[in-house]
Amino acid sequence: KLHNEVQELKGNIRVYCRIRPFLRGQKEKQSVVEYIGENGELIIVNPSKQGKEGRRSFKFNKVYNPAATQADVYSDIQPLIQSVLDGYNVCIFAYGQTGSGKTYTMTGPDKATEENWGVNYRALNDIFRISQTRVNTFTFEITVQMMEIYNEQVCDLLSSDGSARKYPFIYCMTISDLHITCIWLTVFLNLHTLGIVSTPQPNGLAVPEASMHTVNKTSDVLNLMDIGLRNRHRGSTAMNERSSRSHSVVTIHVRGMDIKSGSSMRSSLHLVDLAGSERVDRSEVTGDRLKEAQHINKSLSALGDVIYALAQKNAHVPYRNSKLTQVLQTSLGGQAKTLMFVQLNPEVGSHSETTSTLKFAERAS
Ligand code: ADP
Ligand code: MG
Repeated sequence: KLHNEVQELKGNIRVYCRIRPFLRGQKEKQSVVEYIGENGELIIVNPSKQGKEGRRSFKFNKVYNPAATQADVYSDIQPLIQSVLDGYNVCIFAYGQTGSGKTYTMTGPDKATEENWGVNYRALNDIFRISQTRVNTFTFEITVQMMEIYNEQVCDLLSSDGSARKYPFIYCMTISDLHITCIWLTVFLNLHTLGIVSTPQPNGLAVPEASMHTVNKTSDVLNLMDIGLRNRHRGSTAMNERSSRSHSVVTIHVRGMDIKSGSSMRSSLHLVDLAGSERVDRSEVTGDRLKEAQHINKSLSALGDVIYALAQKNAHVPYRNSKLTQVLQTSLGGQAKTLMFVQLNPEVGSHSETTSTLKFAERAS
């Protein structure tokens, strides 16, 4: 049934809402979530307002109960991952304020065990598994890029030498085999200099300069993500701070070749943990913080505009307004399948952020 639904939605945006549970040690307080329906209905209540006025209802493709497990969530998106091996480009991203569970959904908690792995690991694991089942008819090559977009600059999280990140400088180039050119970049990739390719290339790469890593098994992926996460934290004093103010993009490129006919296909899967969507009080921040906030604002609203244009089936889709939408362009719109996780914090104190998150999401569906 779900497979049919995914088929039907081809080209459209799916919006799945996930509410994180109250955390251990946190007193079970009143939740802003009043009602979760079977078919994606959600009612949010503002406890400081009485009656109807304090309530607002929304409808999405799906709303998860806070008790939903990582496996529950993954089983719903599994058909999308499968379709990557059928040649579709897919983009899955998590939107929400800091602390709402974006990283939990996409990657998992700190020190994740297999049981609470997030979408990233499960998706890659599945891609390996499914490609193995087709080994007699297809050869697949799976490569991974991992990038961070911070202040409208794209940075390679898997560059071999994090110490040189400040200089956009290519120091070594090797052609590793027929298919992949590995360009090692010691990065802060300033894309004005090094460029996101503006029109989709035959090789499907939006950021060809970011290093590509071939993966063959799950442990390869775990190692790569480890390196990526470490690089993400390097160079910033307040680690979590920085990660909540940048977008992280894991891109999985699949290249398949039909052994008999020799025909080939390419597709990609983007897995995106967006910067926190919380609004920053302009009167309280200045300098770098203000600049960051403006960049985040700009890129998230550019993403919102792209998704809105796609949902409306507008002829013009404004991809060019941010680095984020340029990087994701090949997997937003056209035949591509897009899924947004809308992440909510159930605490009453987050009511106003939660409402603005839901409004963002509503515009997409
Ligand atoms: P974000 O990335 O949006 O800032 P996190 O993913 O870091 O938020 O989540 C904040 C905290 O809540 C973390 O400690 C995380 O492990 C926890 N958390 C989030 N979602 C869940 C969930 N569904 N179940 C259990 N813990 C969760
Ligand atoms: Mg996070």
